[in-house]
Amino acid sequence: MILEKYLIPDVIFNDIYEITPEFLLSEGIHGLVLDIDNTLVTYDDPVPTPSVSEWFKAMETAGIKLAFVSNNSDPKRVTTFNEGLGYFAMHKGGKPFGKGVRRAMAAMGTTKENTAIIGDQLLTDIMAGKCAGLKRSFAVLPIKDRTELFFRTKRKIEAPYVKKYHKIHGDKK
Ligand SMILES: [Mg+2]
Repeated sequence: MILEKYLIPDVIFNDIYEITPEFLLSEGIHGLVLDIDNTLVTYDDPVPTPSVSEWFKAMETAGIKLAFVSNNSDPKRVTTFNEGLGYFAMHKGGKPFGKGVRRAMAAMGTTKENTAIIGDQLLTDIMAGKCAGLKRSFAVLPIKDRTELFFRTKRKIEAPYVKKYHKIHGDKK
């Protein structure tokens, strides 16, 4: 199926923190087009969390350029998030089409041969990277799902202990 070519990420990571400057440089990546919502932070975080800020700094130190291309229709979402950072930042990024990605590359001074996109949505972020012909398109699990998965796993781990507890205490459950 031809769509597969546009929707299958090169790598799926659990989160952005698994994507290190060393890995990117080894892949020949010098610029990142970043989705914001559910990739870097949740919808409820207006500004980068401390750990996201640290991740940005590590990228900058390695000489990797950053840009935000969000499909969020609110310009404030993007300008507030980018405050004090000064990266290229675009709302209504038009993903899955490649125009926003190409504008971000122009601003970063990178090319499709040394740029990657990172996002949580295959139908927008990954497809935009593929449409723009980027060297790499990386997916991360949406933060919201990650949280839910965490709790699901946690409950699974807890389950036998909860059962044991009820056995000891003589509960019916
Ligand atoms: Mg997103």
